[in-house]
Amino acid sequence: MTHADSSLRFLFGDADIRGESVVLDTALRQILHRHDYSTTLRALLGEFAAAVVLISNNLKYHGKIILQARSTQSVELVMVECTSDLQIRGIARGDLAAVAEQPMELLADGQLAITIEREGNQRYQGIVALESGALATALEGYFQQSEQLHTRFWLSSDGERAAGMMLQQLPAQRQQPAEARESQWQTACILAETITPAELLDLPPPTLLHRLFHETSVRIYEPKPVVFGCSCSRERSLNALSLLPEAEQAELLGEQGHITLDCELCGAQYRFVQSDIPALAETGRVH
Ligand SMILES: [Zn+2]
Repeated sequence: MTHADSSLRFLFGDADIRGESVVLDTALRQILHRHDYSTTLRALLGEFAAAVVLISNNLKYHGKIILQARSTQSVELVMVECTSDLQIRGIARGDLAAVAEQPMELLADGQLAITIEREGNQRYQGIVALESGALATALEGYFQQSEQLHTRFWLSSDGERAAGMMLQQLPAQRQQPAEARESQWQTACILAETITPAELLDLPPPTLLHRLFHETSVRIYEPKPVVFGCSCSRERSLNALSLLPEAEQAELLGEQGHITLDCELCGAQYRFVQSDIPALAETGRVH
């Protein structure tokens, strides 16, 4: 089978280590094609998309994870989110033509926010500085702080496709000295360090995992599909519109007698006439 647009979990048979791997193709291009992004920005969005899928794979409840970076440099915002059903969407704002040698240079000195939103509006947010430049390093710092578990990320994107791998130490389950546990973790990381960004993008995950970890037993689970999907709706657009002052709503309605709201993330268009808008419909006011 093809591994494009899927994510899979793997578990080490003789160490307290789990892993996730992801390959994005069409789902990523559906995020990218709506705006005229530079190749650097496409690769940056690709890395964010791969990372957010890797993190979301471990969600134990319905909800979503939002990975968002803000910077005062040419790119103001990069946001990609992934639901517990592995639907992704994302966007970048700022100078969309910006280029750099390394994608993360576009967010130099920025901040990365990881938001976990649970259905029913429970929300948790962690923020880390993008000091080192690499997205993988910033995420590793976040996991060290929030979960106190060693976590490593490998991310790669060429602006068309993206791929990633994550290794995470599990809470101790085996009876073994702490040094043995630490040395298993170090060995797994040293082996994973040998992947090149091109191999990460090009090799099917089972081949890659075999190549890296064939000396130990690794159980690979069935891949789960990742799709592009947007959570916008007519109802949500109307709610947003209803938050505006009445005068502003009337102004937007203007001469044309309707308001069209476009979703920047998926391109959906929502059109409202006066009778759709509660504040204006009630007063029956004609502007
Ligand atoms: Zn949308």
